[in-house]
Amino acid sequence: MKALGGALVAFVLFLVVLVPIVAQGSRSVETGVGNPLLGNLDSAKIPAEYRKFIEAAGTVCAEVPAAAIAAQIQQESGWNSKATSPVGAQGLTQFMPGTWATLGRDVDGNGVASPFDPADAIDAQARYMCQLAGSVKRYAVQGGSSVIELAWAAYNAGPGAVAQYGGIPPYAETQNYVATLRSTMSTFLGDVVKVGGKWGAPLAASHLIPTSGFGPRGSPCGGCSSNHQGQDFGAPDGAPIYAACSGIVDFAGQMSGYGNITFINCGGGVRTGYAHQSAIGVRVGQKVTAGTEIGKVGATGVGTGAHLHFEVRTGAPAGGGGLSGTPVSPTPFMREQGITW
Ligand SMILES: [Zn+2]
Repeated sequence: MKALGGALVAFVLFLVVLVPIVAQGSRSVETGVGNPLLGNLDSAKIPAEYRKFIEAAGTVCAEVPAAAIAAQIQQESGWNSKATSPVGAQGLTQFMPGTWATLGRDVDGNGVASPFDPADAIDAQARYMCQLAGSVKRYAVQGGSSVIELAWAAYNAGPGAVAQYGGIPPYAETQNYVATLRSTMSTFLGDVVKVGGKWGAPLAASHLIPTSGFGPRGSPCGGCSSNHQGQDFGAPDGAPIYAACSGIVDFAGQMSGYGNITFINCGGGVRTGYAHQSAIGVRVGQKVTAGTEIGKVGATGVGTGAHLHFEVRTGAPAGGGGLSGTPVSPTPFMREQGITW
């Protein structure tokens, strides 16, 4: 009997300790691919009265992170649990009565399932978004739309429209909705720096807000390039910049237009560049590892305010320095290295 008791205790311990660890592990693995928007929720950024409900919402399914639900509430009701819309949408998550009838549950145990009860509304929203994510996740592609972006599109335009176009429908309203949520979601993420082996993100997650992308663009500002050679991020002045690869600094100084810029030679002819810095924190010849702080965001050179201009160049000759190598689009390149924004 004693042995059985021991086995029982071990089994319970397994359930309590091991299962959550395994669940968490599979969660991050599963969502690491096809969901570039996953990051750690910074609970302090959620209004205190809703915090535990948002945290719980992030555990409903792997495809829908807590910060994604927070972003939707911000967008739908501005965290007003009594919000109503002219068309009859109700509460924090702006459920229509018909949808609520099929999804609503009395989670807070006050005897009524109500879209005006924050606990009930947030729980239903999480399950609704998980349903939508499940119905559109087949359209997620590596390097393309992520599952949560598709789920937002399905929420806005209906899963049928996502299926019809095999991705985010080309409707301006839907595309704007997805873009808005993507940037809103980043405001609920902690300042984690994503680093995976040799590669890392050039900014903390909360600052990884893509603005001007790679390639041709209209005249963005006097003197700015009309063929953009990098990816811009709308990070504030003074935000730390991190090495996006492990390698050796092969340029650190001023370059016209770029202002203060650093290039890191990552090996294999690949170089990463960080322009417009207010302060350069490394010198030529210095070895750095991915995730090391190398400088501060600024507005030096030509531009319209503080931001990070991030470049990836390939095919650079050994010891090339300067502007050697051919600029490539940073977003797909870094995605291939497991770093997403
Ligand atoms: Zn730029």
